[in-house]
Amino acid sequence: MTIKPTGNRAIVIGGSLGGLFVGIMLRSIGWDVDIYERSERNLDSRGGGIVLQPDVIEAFQIAGISTQALGVVAHERYYLNSDGSIAQSMPMRQMLTSWNLLYGSMRRHFPSEHYHYGKYLTDVQQNGEQVTAIFADGTRDAADLLIGADGPNSTVRQHVLPRERYRYAGYVAYRGLVNENELSSDAKALFTERFVFYQFPNSHILQYVIPGDRESLVPGERRFNWVWYVNYDKTTELPSILTDKQGKHRDYSIPPGMLAPAVEQEMRSYANTVLAPPFQKLVAATQEPFVQAILDMGVPQMTFGRVALVGDAAFIPRPHTAASTAKAAANASSLADTLVKYNHNVIEALPAWEPSQLAYGRQLMASGQLMGDRSQFRYGKSREA
Ligand SMILES: Cc1cc2nc3c(=O)[nH]c(=O)nc-3n(C[C@H](O)[C@H](O)[C@H](O)COP(=O)(O)OP(=O)(O)OC[C@H]3O[C@@H](n4cnc5c(N)ncnc54)[C@H](O)[C@@H]3O)c2cc1C
Repeated sequence: MTIKPTGNRAIVIGGSLGGLFVGIMLRSIGWDVDIYERSERNLDSRGGGIVLQPDVIEAFQIAGISTQALGVVAHERYYLNSDGSIAQSMPMRQMLTSWNLLYGSMRRHFPSEHYHYGKYLTDVQQNGEQVTAIFADGTRDAADLLIGADGPNSTVRQHVLPRERYRYAGYVAYRGLVNENELSSDAKALFTERFVFYQFPNSHILQYVIPGDRESLVPGERRFNWVWYVNYDKTTELPSILTDKQGKHRDYSIPPGMLAPAVEQEMRSYANTVLAPPFQKLVAATQEPFVQAILDMGVPQMTFGRVALVGDAAFIPRPHTAASTAKAAANASSLADTLVKYNHNVIEALPAWEPSQLAYGRQLMASGQLMGDRSQFRYGKSREA
């Protein structure tokens, strides 16, 4: 694919999925792009499962990234009874992938000399002609466009919309990964290549198979990925869930291997009390469960002169939509399309891009809240209904 350089340049803050989608899409229309990520190294090892949506595949195709081996197919859905028997089954083909596979695919495609680690953005300045990023190490960079793809605690958003912040939705997602060969054969037979749910009052847990270590799709080398939604009070319970094993309080998630032992133990005993037996086995076989608070956030505005917000920096839909990653891809693809339509004029293109992206973010937020509230709060806010 030959790409005609346009002479335009973008700075992307945040080198996770949202930043990489913008990077690959703007490069596909002839822009020079530099991604600045605060982490000192590749962001791997934390990733769990992601439902692969058409927007992601389309972005990969446009960028010239192979879509031949992007995930594991689930052929049907099962809903379980409390004794583990199958209450309902329905054919439904879905492709499931992992955060690591999407990140790795884009990271390998994006030129290393333009992906900068250890760069923490502290300030943004703009005039009519350019926008400048200022980093904690004292360096700066100026470009035609700056994209804030810096996630839920976005520094770019704090700069342009200082009053906007996410809110805790009232429940968390415990999550875990189990290697295919580390699960008992009966649970393995039930879960393999299926999307399986167990719903009970004020909670539900689900699982699907995703690529394994080093993105392997080989049967036997993949992983079972589970997500369990549990209600916790914001003031009396959440703070201890979000305090890691070293006693450090974290904003909204605790990564694998860092849950406080008491929190992990309580989660495991609770699983043995309330989950259907196959899910009890899945949780028991998990070596390093992790947790993420479920958040709600939506900005009233996504563009500010030469600055735009994308991905989780702008909207955090609840995970029931299975659409956060797809939304980040859609933000990036439509930005590239709009820049082309407006002959790469940033000042004209951004206001034209914004309305559809705001509408999409709002629609995902609303449907995620509806699904989540229906599952978690039908019988009040408590955990045990
Ligand atoms: C390590 C990791 C693992 C994840 N695993 C999953 C998963 O398993 N399943 C799933 O559905 N979603 C996962 N997510 C979330 C998923 O990536 C997002 O929901 C979605 O893809 C959109 O994310 P984003 O790129 O907008 O924001 P994020 O993924 O939150 O990325 C924001 C990036 O910005 C960087 N950053 C923040 N502030 C600054 C700053 N001031 N200067 C420079 N850089 C900054 C952060 O280090 C981070 O890399 C994960 C995110 C991370 C970071």
